[in-house]
Amino acid sequence: MNLGKNSIKNKKEMKRKEMKRILTVIVYIMISVFLIGTFISISCVGKVDKDVNEEKIRVVVSILPQAEFVERVGGDKVEVPVMVIVPPGASPHTYEPTPGQLEEISKAEIYAKVGSGIEFELAWMDKIIKMNEEMLVVDCARGVKFIAARYKYGEAVVYYEYNESDKAQSDLKGIDPHIWLSPANAKVMVENIYEGLIEIDPQSKEYYKKNLESYLSELDKVDDEIIQTFSGKKNKKIIVFHPTWAYFAKDYGIEQIPIEEGGKEPTAEGIRNSINQAKEYNLKVIFASPEFSTQSAKAIANEIDGEVVLVSPLEKNYVENIRKVARAFAGAME
Ligand SMILES: [Zn+2]
Repeated sequence: MNLGKNSIKNKKEMKRKEMKRILTVIVYIMISVFLIGTFISISCVGKVDKDVNEEKIRVVVSILPQAEFVERVGGDKVEVPVMVIVPPGASPHTYEPTPGQLEEISKAEIYAKVGSGIEFELAWMDKIIKMNEEMLVVDCARGVKFIAARYKYGEAVVYYEYNESDKAQSDLKGIDPHIWLSPANAKVMVENIYEGLIEIDPQSKEYYKKNLESYLSELDKVDDEIIQTFSGKKNKKIIVFHPTWAYFAKDYGIEQIPIEEGGKEPTAEGIRNSINQAKEYNLKVIFASPEFSTQSAKAIANEIDGEVVLVSPLEKNYVENIRKVARAFAGAME
């Protein structure tokens, strides 16, 4: 009897314990569902924020005109302003990046190099690539026809064809690096930037394509305008302090007579040659740029009773600037 009573009591006890276990499990499941739900919604909110603020493509470029190229093609998909290594007023022939800039490069998705052998890139590109091996390096010069130049101070630059098969980084030293200063070359550079952007962000291809086409047509337009600007000019010669304008000169049939080369101060002979040439061709303007000293340009201008006009090869507003430069050159021609 007692045993029977006990067994009934035990059975009741067991049922109670089982109910308790089931309830505990249910509570655990409910808590888990709540926590997972909360977690998912938090991460969704996080993702939305990221889409808006952080998923822009970080692009680094060497020189200011490239920043306009990237911003125009990349639109609101790239972080703006695009980071430029060589700051306004500095020369890409001598510039060295700061530790802060190297830190920024290590966070970038794309580095768009000029690729034509400017000294800053020859000295730093390998180090930059090692610092951020995941980063896509876009060679803006891919497809640009390089020209090499033989300079003699104060005489017209002699250009000769550059051997395309020697187009290795180490062999770029003989070529003229200022490729971006012809709108035709700028078009090639912009297309290379477009290719880089769609490699990193293929789903926005249509967006980039539309931007690319609109900017290319602006470059075509300014190219036509420049041709008009020089039409009817007979004496298409310019005296420039630094021989920056080889590609521009070649495209528009201009002869550039440099006072110096490679950022070095001109020799006395170079200055004398420049003065003689200016007199011989009746040139009254010496073109210099804000990146270089204007001292010897002023000395020559004084000798010929002329003036120094500043034109910049490195302004960010590329299209506007190249139009301005063309007008300045044309204004000095007969
Ligand atoms: Zn230069």
